[in-house]
Order: sequence, then C-alpha cells, then structure tokens
Amino acid sequence: MNTWFTELQTHNVSLGLKMEDVLWHEKTPYQELAVLETEAYGRMLVLDGAIQTTASDEFVYHEMIAHVPLLLHSKPRKVAVIGGGDGGAIREILRHPGIEEAHLIEIDEKVMEASKRFFPEIAVGLEDDRAHIHFTDGIAWVKQAKDFDVILVDSTDPVGPAEGLFVPEFYQSIYDALSDGGIMVAQSESPFLEPDIIRRVMDGVSRSFPVTRLYLASVPTYPSGLWSFTLGAKNTLPAPRQVPLKTRYWTPDIQKSCFHLPGFVEELIR
Ligand code: SAM
Repeated sequence: MNTWFTELQTHNVSLGLKMEDVLWHEKTPYQELAVLETEAYGRMLVLDGAIQTTASDEFVYHEMIAHVPLLLHSKPRKVAVIGGGDGGAIREILRHPGIEEAHLIEIDEKVMEASKRFFPEIAVGLEDDRAHIHFTDGIAWVKQAKDFDVILVDSTDPVGPAEGLFVPEFYQSIYDALSDGGIMVAQSESPFLEPDIIRRVMDGVSRSFPVTRLYLASVPTYPSGLWSFTLGAKNTLPAPRQVPLKTRYWTPDIQKSCFHLPGFVEELIR
C-alpha cells in the first residue's frame, strides 16, 4: 500500500504519514473517526482529519497532562478528565497512589470503543474499579460536578463539540467544581502555529484562577511538534511531591523544566 494520510494542520501546513492500513473508519454522531496503521508511528487515532494519538508517541501527552498537575496537588483523590476518550490520561492518573475516583467525561462513545479495540495499551485503565465513565457533554457535566481535586481538559481542537471547552465560562465552571487547593490543566495547542489559542486559554483560565502557568512538551505528531498545556490553580503552587512513577517522558527534572519557557513563548503570553 503506498497511500499517505495527510493532516492539514493549518491552511498552509500539513503532516504526511505513510499508511499501511485503514483499520476503522466511520462517521459517529459527533465526528469522523478513523484508526490507521502507519509505518512511522504505528496505530493512529484520527478525528475529523486531526491526529489525536499514536501508539508510538502517546506517552508524552498522556504523562504530561496527568503527572504535572497531580504532583502539584497535596493529596489528589478525586480527578476528572473531560474529553480523553482514548483513556490515556486515565491510565496515567491511576498510577498515582491515593486516587480514589477517576471520572472520564467523553461526548463520543465511539472513541472509547475504538480505543479499547485498537489501543488496548492506552485504554487499559478504563476497566479499573476507580474509573467512572460518563458519556455526555463535558460542558454540561462540569456545571453539576463538585469537590474534584484535579480536572484535566483533554479535548480536541476548539471546533465542533469542543468549542465550548475553550471559553472563560467553562473555566469558571471548572473552578467551581474544584475543591480548595484544586488544579486544572487544559491542552492548549502549539505555540508555533496557534499562538492565539494559547493567549485565549491563558486569558480565560486567569479570569477564574489566581495562578495560571503554561508548560510545554514535545509531541512529534501534533502540529509543529511543540505542545502547550495551561494550568490553573486555586492556590500558590508548592514544590512538586516526590512519587516514584514508571514513565517514559516525564521525569522529576521535566516536572520543573517544562515550566521554563522559550523566549518567544514567554513573549506571546506576556
Ligand atoms: N490528546 C488529544 C489531542 O490533543 O489531540 C485529544 C484526545 S481525546 C481523543 C479528545 C476527545 O474530546 C475526543 O474523543 C472528543 O470526542 C472529546 N470531546 C470533544 N468535545 C467534547 C465535549 N464537549 N465534551 C466531552 N468530550 C468532548
């Protein structure tokens, strides 16, 4: 098979990956879902033409969205992930001793079905007794949520059902759903290609949260390869807790260094 998958990342940038097979392709009620086998990165989940995760580099994003905030919270017990139907963030959350409940709020049941079938190593945590799955819109769900220690927004790009996950009202609902000392993190796109989204998320989060910080990680299959996460905290951030974790990207040094931003990123959020 000599066929290439091309993700049009912006109107003038694309990423091409040589495909070996199309394993699943369907239109769900929310989006177009595909699972492709690629030569370079193995299995890949694609939603509406945008790469969500691949078997080879998924660990970077999932470790970084989960461990960085969890280690900055004094005692995380009850955690929620909004989006994230592949299960990767839940898998990482459940590595932390002391987690009692990990809730996943995913709008599209089919994403989880695809993940369980084609990415069992990513979906592994979804069968855990501490995992609670809600197939519903995260925007409505968060309005009734209470007493969460950490909430992660593991969303698609700000179009379609995810649009409302990038607005100040949503961050305020997250603030209200968090207990004292609560922390949120939202994936906030690429500083090279989507600086306006980063500014928008930082601005929106800082309207509700007194502490707002940006951190970065390298995810090769995401647009430009450099990815950002916006963290909002109710209180001043303490030194990270030391917890032995079996990880491939996150390390205790990366926990600290990920907040040291390149000059152009400092500039864009100033
Ligand atoms: N790590 C990925 C990335 O940055 O490309 C995102 C992974 S995850 C697959 C994103 C999920 O968010 C999708 O499965 C999508 O269905 C879900 N989603 C989008 N809008 C949502 C909403 N309003 N409520 C709950 N889930 C939503």
